[in-house]
Amino acid sequence: ATILAIETSCDETSVAIVNKCNVLSNFVASQMAEHGQYGGVVPEVASRRHLETVNGAIAAALEAANLSWSEIDAIAATCAPGLVGALLVGITAAKTLALLHDKPFMGVHHLEGHIYASYLTNPDLKPPFLCLLVSGGHTSLIQVHQCGQYTTLGRTRDDAAGEAFDKVARLLGLGYPGGPIIDQLAQTGNPQAFSLPEGRISLPKGGYHPYDCSFSGLKTAVMRLVNQLKATDPDLPIADLAASFQETVAKALTKRAIRAALDHNLSTIAIGGGVAANRGLRQHLKAAGEKHNLEVLFPPMKYCTDNAAMIACAASAHFNQGDRSSLTLGVQSRMDLSKLQTLYNATRG
Ligand code: ATP
Ligand code: MG
Ligand code: FE
Repeated sequence: ATILAIETSCDETSVAIVNKCNVLSNFVASQMAEHGQYGGVVPEVASRRHLETVNGAIAAALEAANLSWSEIDAIAATCAPGLVGALLVGITAAKTLALLHDKPFMGVHHLEGHIYASYLTNPDLKPPFLCLLVSGGHTSLIQVHQCGQYTTLGRTRDDAAGEAFDKVARLLGLGYPGGPIIDQLAQTGNPQAFSLPEGRISLPKGGYHPYDCSFSGLKTAVMRLVNQLKATDPDLPIADLAASFQETVAKALTKRAIRAALDHNLSTIAIGGGVAANRGLRQHLKAAGEKHNLEVLFPPMKYCTDNAAMIACAASAHFNQGDRSSLTLGVQSRMDLSKLQTLYNATRG
């Protein structure tokens, strides 16, 4: 099926047209620079920019794919989780187009989109596999059983990995988003310069949760260390701090992903989300994957950060199993992956 999808859950306005796992076009307009001035995404600004951009993005995606509406089988949009006002722009545009052109409408769970990003460059990928989703808002280890069926094996108990990078960058006085800046600085730093706490989750029966993680303690530890260092020398060893922090996050994520894959007999780990760009994480996962004979898939960056191609790819899989959404479907700021089938409540077509 050929699907046109709209993604507006956060600060990227994206429209893509995908046939199965084939990307015919993928238009992405990022608002990152504008939000950067405020040090984070401002929801009202995001909604307004989506509204201004979405129609042009739809036209651009159709034109780049060289398709007309008659060649589109369904229109999809991210409907959860995300910023409510931002999601509303995309879902309203998609529903309007579906009505206007008499096409089925499909709501898509944003995280299922991130999972499907791996199919865009590995169309032969077959479940079961493990998805390590590391983005600005999420950090999860998801067992993929089949389209629409997921078990979240582990997740962060506080900050997402990307959020941790952004917060630590801010307290080091670096810019936004912090991930790429820390990654760059870490290249010249010593990852062993400072020993930082990994952030484990205690279990009531003793021991630690094998797959859950926590990054807020790590952030506090970096803050204390920075204050301590500043007391003796205002000139901070920024590169060493960046490298040590990145090393701690990369090791914590790698350890949990490998353990979850081995425990559940999953031979492939697919990475998704913006933090997948991180060179420290890539190195650790690659080395650990080789050691344990696990395949590790890193989709290209354009499919790791928010994009509509991954949303269209997920919609296409649901379309093929007969799933359709009702035009009365709304948006939700939060939604567990296990609730995903509630999106497809329309008469099966
Ligand atoms: P979500 O999908 O959970 O709503 P999001 O869409 O905001 O979150 P993404 O766009 O997938 O998240 O990723 C953005 C995050 O990735 C930011 O927190 C950013 O700092 C981080 N990031 C980007 N590049 C790197 C890098 N090289 N190293 C570490 N983090 C990075
Ligand atoms: Mg983003
Ligand atoms: Fe995302």
